[in-house]
Amino acid sequence: MKKILTVTVALFLLLAMTCSASAALVELYVYERHMLYDETFVLGDANGDESVDGKDALSIKSTVAGASMAEINGQAADFDADGAVSAKDSYALKLVNSGAKAIADYETVNGKKVNLYKFTIAGNDISKYSIVLSEDATDEDNSSLAAVYLRDYIEKATNITLPIVFGESNMTTEKMIRIVQYDFFSEKGQEYGADGLEYEVKDGNLYLYGALRGTMYSAFEILETYVGMRFYSNDKTFVYKNRAVDIPEGTTYEYCPKLRFRHASHTYGSGGALKHYFPNRLCGTQLYSYTQKLYGTLTGPLFSNAHSFNEYWKMGTGKIPEDTTGMTDEEIRAARWESGNYPDPYNWQPCATNNTDYEILFEGMLDCTLMAQDWHNEAHFEEGVTCISFSICDNGSYCQCRGCRKVAITQGEGYCGLNLMLYNRAVEDIQEYYPGVKLMGIMYAKDFPKTIKPHKDFIIIYCGVCCHNHIIGQEACYPEGGQCDGMKNDKDLVALKYWGEITKETGTEIWFWIYPVNYHYFLCDTPNVPNLYWNTRYLIDECGVDGFYYEGGGEAYSFEPVKAYAMSKLLWDSDMTYDEFNDVIKDFLYVYFGGGAEEIFEYMGMLTEAGDLSGTCFVNNFDRPGDMYSYEYLAENYEYMRGLLVSALEKAKSKDQQDHVLKALVCCDFMGLSSVHTDWYVNGENKELYCERYTWMYNTLIEQGMTTIFSTPDYYLVPSTIDFEINPMIQFYELGSRRDGVYP
Ligand SMILES: [Zn+2]
Ligand SMILES: [Zn+2]
Repeated sequence: MKKILTVTVALFLLLAMTCSASAALVELYVYERHMLYDETFVLGDANGDESVDGKDALSIKSTVAGASMAEINGQAADFDADGAVSAKDSYALKLVNSGAKAIADYETVNGKKVNLYKFTIAGNDISKYSIVLSEDATDEDNSSLAAVYLRDYIEKATNITLPIVFGESNMTTEKMIRIVQYDFFSEKGQEYGADGLEYEVKDGNLYLYGALRGTMYSAFEILETYVGMRFYSNDKTFVYKNRAVDIPEGTTYEYCPKLRFRHASHTYGSGGALKHYFPNRLCGTQLYSYTQKLYGTLTGPLFSNAHSFNEYWKMGTGKIPEDTTGMTDEEIRAARWESGNYPDPYNWQPCATNNTDYEILFEGMLDCTLMAQDWHNEAHFEEGVTCISFSICDNGSYCQCRGCRKVAITQGEGYCGLNLMLYNRAVEDIQEYYPGVKLMGIMYAKDFPKTIKPHKDFIIIYCGVCCHNHIIGQEACYPEGGQCDGMKNDKDLVALKYWGEITKETGTEIWFWIYPVNYHYFLCDTPNVPNLYWNTRYLIDECGVDGFYYEGGGEAYSFEPVKAYAMSKLLWDSDMTYDEFNDVIKDFLYVYFGGGAEEIFEYMGMLTEAGDLSGTCFVNNFDRPGDMYSYEYLAENYEYMRGLLVSALEKAKSKDQQDHVLKALVCCDFMGLSSVHTDWYVNGENKELYCERYTWMYNTLIEQGMTTIFSTPDYYLVPSTIDFEINPMIQFYELGSRRDGVYP
């Protein structure tokens, strides 16, 4: 008996040690979570007149007596946080108005004012809960990260810190939030897949389920839907104010996104992926880090982004040292990489029909894949989320040797066929090394092959549409196309339709690289926000696109952060309607700019209209602001548009939000003043106002630190002095439109 007891104690000790070690390691993921606490309503201000007084007491009283709830803000009236307006609330306000109580008394939990006053699950207060992980969970599991996210953000909203424990038997509270992460290869795990999530409330407990990433995605769903979080930037998280929120008994929710590859480069904030990328359920590997299971793994290529032949050529032509005595494989690879020839990726493509070239590329791919792992990128080939890039360089030229011309031209396979030939061969060959892996590569050419079809394990990366003004499949491009080589969407329409049909037949995936970002002229937005939705819609519905790389990254002076966020949401919930998409935009505008969200939304709509009236097809990364906008429209509507932003400025609540509106206002003035320069200043119609506005714009631009005005920071600079004589567009950017001169 005694002996058995000893064993039990020893086991228990061991278990306890394991638990505390894991618990301690979980702390590693904790970092400063900067918050933006929104004052969504003022408690007591039931009638919304911005003061708490006798009138509010009357409103509440008449509501209790049966008057319509529509007259008051129910949350602002709900002092006792029971989700209803009652005599108790009326009494509480009476105490406040008489000075016997302070409003703060009704908003404080454990000594701190909170944004979510009463958070309950099945009616049980959140303080009764522990976050419970499986007994054998480790600090490297995605469920651990989910637990930390839940604990920290619930604490930020409620000022109640939930304990995280391993194993239900270690729980010391009445109730639990149980996070269940299934093994990916189990039957259940396969049902959830990489992205699937589920949660439910059963017997007063909240259960979260997933396999690879679903567990953390369940946590984000709960934090957004119930706790009021918005993961809007890499710097800060926004939280709405709520009196009482319950996740009711019997709640069930399950979701799995349709798009397998979701990437949106964000433009706001400089921090890591943990505050924005994962919480918004993006999963593309283009983060170049965070490939570990802790972060749920990522989908996409391990090493090089879309273009990789240049990298593989360097490795493949590199020399393995003659004497490798004492060298590790890693050191040998590094030496090979260092000694290779790196071709010019903007002017070079390999030969597609020469066996030697192929072998150099293939070998280069194998060693680069290993080198990426030497660099601590975790590969998840077995789970099917890690792929390998095998792709042409970043240019539209092709090998013009006899063999290649014969395939492309004589045999009618086109340049796409030529690429596919190379791609398909590599997909077959790589299976010996990484069974089941997929390769991915670019399709720049708009032609398509006569007979060659894409391999089922190849992922076609289709790059961009030619015109960013017109919505593909919905609006016709101008017959002459844009100023940049007459580019228009016609060829894309035909090519995309072709790939959509052929990939349905072969089972090949297509991922689309979408480029609606403001690449260069940071003071001038690109007027194409609705295009984001409709182009994505068309590409998914009509062309069977399975993944998107949204290219963001322009300066966050006005609407780039909105676009990146809205796109993140659309990629996660690709079935959302256009109205829902606009609701996402308005939600973000509220978070980012404050109370003037409606005004800003209207302003954005007018920018789009000015873009539609530009009278030309345009390409974001070539054309100039004067090619993307109708100056006439901007001149005509300048005062009204500016008025919208001025009104939004008054409604901005935080310093951050004020700065965001100010930056948008600088951009509005820059475009507006450029449009009215001739009339207002040169012709003297409104000279005084012109000078006043220009001076304000210039000074605010400096104050707001908006001195990087172009993609190549030292190419166009903010002028060192104010000058009313020159049109601001010319003064800042030399040329307003490609029509005005030779593109530099
Ligand atoms: Zn060739
Ligand atoms: Zn067009």
